[in-house]
Amino acid sequence: MNHDVTLLVDIRAQVGEGAIWEAQKKVLYWLDILSSELYEYNPTTGENKTYHVGQHVGTVVPRASGGLMLALYNGFAAFDPASGKITMIADPEANLPANRFNDGKCDPAGRFWAGTMAYTHQSTQGSLYRLDADLSVHKMMGNIAISNGIVWTADKKTMYYIDTHAYNVRAYDYDNATGNIANERVVVTVEKGMGGPDGMAIDAEDMLWVAHYGGSCVRRWDPKSGKVLDQIDLPVSNITSCAFGGDDLSTLYITSAAQQLSAEALAKTPLAGSLFRANPGVKGVPSFAFAG
Ligand code: CA
Repeated sequence: MNHDVTLLVDIRAQVGEGAIWEAQKKVLYWLDILSSELYEYNPTTGENKTYHVGQHVGTVVPRASGGLMLALYNGFAAFDPASGKITMIADPEANLPANRFNDGKCDPAGRFWAGTMAYTHQSTQGSLYRLDADLSVHKMMGNIAISNGIVWTADKKTMYYIDTHAYNVRAYDYDNATGNIANERVVVTVEKGMGGPDGMAIDAEDMLWVAHYGGSCVRRWDPKSGKVLDQIDLPVSNITSCAFGGDDLSTLYITSAAQQLSAEALAKTPLAGSLFRANPGVKGVPSFAFAG
């Protein structure tokens, strides 16, 4: 299928990330991790509002009781966009200053999962954490290189998760009542030359849309067969996250990164770091808010 890609925000984000559609306000939240900036993109007006959050920020999710939740360098936090106030909640890695938070999302019961990685990209000192509604933090996985995309199936029985340097997507049995995971298995393996699997979204047919960092594309993968079903090509190489949005969830928003590109590469791909839109030809599912 041929997918037209539209440039929405021409910006050189170092690590554009964390795309998530907020259905009530009808805006897309996303961010640039290394610029410590949170963005609120309004597709009706075209405005991309910037919030300076003062720390490297890995991801953002809406909070059911109002405002947003962030995974900041100093840990999980609540953020009130109206006042700009940040309330720190928990820092599971206060003892690991060489790490930062990366991608994360909420599960169907409203628990906030977010993981970490080393700034150097060169170790497996990252972990995946779960912040529950009672604000308790649980370490769910260790030995992670670059914690990235995470989604849940419509029946709430399976979780898919990406550690970029593993070059695969792993599935887990997921218990929505407890938030426990079990029975890890690899369901997608990314071949050499297609970059590293990065952010991920799930569509209404339980198929996975994976951002390929260094692969200049988002691919639709079937986790049952492990096969590629579709591909959206982008004019930049480092694709970092994607999220379904719009009134009927039929738009795919795509973020990218300008980090790690040489001056020559940036000259060839001047849109690196920008926010894009594509029509995937299938609808997504609503995102979940933090329940706490
Ligand atoms: Ca990502």
